[in-house]
Amino acid sequence: MNEAMSRHDAYTNSEVIALDLQHVFHSWSAQGNLAPLAIAGGRGCVVWDYEGKEYLDFSSQLVNVNIGHQHPKVIEAIKQQADQLATVAPTHANLARGQAAQRILRKAGDMYGGVFFTSGGADANENAMRLARLCTGRDKVLTTYRSYHGNTGSAIAATGDWRRLPNEYARGHVHFFGPFPYRSEFWSDSPAQESTRALQHLERVIQGEGPSRIAAIMLEPVPGTAGIIVPPPGYLAGVRELCTRHGIVLIADEVMCGFGRTGEWFAHQPHHMTPDLITFAKGVNSGYVPVGGVVISREIAQNFQSTVFPGGLTYSGHPLAAASIVAAIDAMESESIVENAHQIGADYLGPGLHALARQHEVIGDVRGAGVFWALELVSDRRTRAPMEAGFMSRLKSELLQRGLLGFVVENRVHVVPPCVVTPTEVQQGLRILDEALTALRP
Ligand code: PLP
Repeated sequence: MNEAMSRHDAYTNSEVIALDLQHVFHSWSAQGNLAPLAIAGGRGCVVWDYEGKEYLDFSSQLVNVNIGHQHPKVIEAIKQQADQLATVAPTHANLARGQAAQRILRKAGDMYGGVFFTSGGADANENAMRLARLCTGRDKVLTTYRSYHGNTGSAIAATGDWRRLPNEYARGHVHFFGPFPYRSEFWSDSPAQESTRALQHLERVIQGEGPSRIAAIMLEPVPGTAGIIVPPPGYLAGVRELCTRHGIVLIADEVMCGFGRTGEWFAHQPHHMTPDLITFAKGVNSGYVPVGGVVISREIAQNFQSTVFPGGLTYSGHPLAAASIVAAIDAMESESIVENAHQIGADYLGPGLHALARQHEVIGDVRGAGVFWALELVSDRRTRAPMEAGFMSRLKSELLQRGLLGFVVENRVHVVPPCVVTPTEVQQGLRILDEALTALRP
């Protein structure tokens, strides 16, 4: 029994679950139909419940624990900052906050001049859209149908998936289709064709909506919750070109795909383009303390030298979050954690998942990069008909029974372990996926 577990051993899983179900109102759920998993502690890629059962965490919780659970340097930095000063208003200067912004800007590149800190990813996108609207004097924001941008006023209206529909109270939001070679909206038969046609479609949407009315195009460089859809070559550079041509601000939502997830510091970086604004959260400090923010280009920041930026948050640049960002980025650098994510994707996880698809007819598509992969399950490989919900929930239980925490969304398993995952843990995860899929064979 490990040390963290012994602190909780007075409780059983069912006591903790009963306490939760009586008092906690859960996200995105009908409250009467919940069966949460009790999690008491974790370390690296492993979490455990209150009775000592261990799970290999191939979900990274909500795809945020990039550095793994309980990284000692990040925990220590939070403790030290808590001893020194646990909170401070955003108006004041604080060393940890300044260092956190400096570290993030170093990773983003020279064209960026400032970081506006928020409490999470949704309000990062909220403020990015606000910045774009303020500095263009335009209203509309274009986003893709296959996207998730967060659960606040404009961020949920910008979201493409079903979660937008009961929440559409903000104005000025227009949606378009991004590229998705496996389920093309454009009848394309190659990634190159998909890229060209998706760009033609976007150009037509811009023309139809009136370029002079569009403040921003916001997209996830690799859409995450929507299915881990790596864009075909040329697409992101093409979007950049359209934005530049029409004076539209380009916002890269790197909340899920940033800070190591794709095996790069920022997912847009290998695509030879630079967004005007980059939003981040999750992986920046692996969610040890809630935080997010917007990386702002020098050009956009310049607009607010003598004009007031009309936005702020009590916890903007919270010192515990800032200290954890500094420690997380430093540890990711000194321990080559982003390089590890890259290599794991190229040498172990990618090839292993492709090998799994050769064994299991139900896997219709394998796609991803780094430690950001999706298995798309189909009932018929030829028609690509999505696997039915009953199969997916049985698969989720089979994985859990065997000690694997996966991220099951619609007809997909998102295979998204922490960036520190080892080849041995990858083999273990792949073996469990194989066993679970074998158990469900008709
Ligand atoms: N943007 C993207 C791409 C996300 O994946 C998420 C959350 O999953 C958000 C924004 C919202 O972040 P948060 O839940 O921290 O508000």
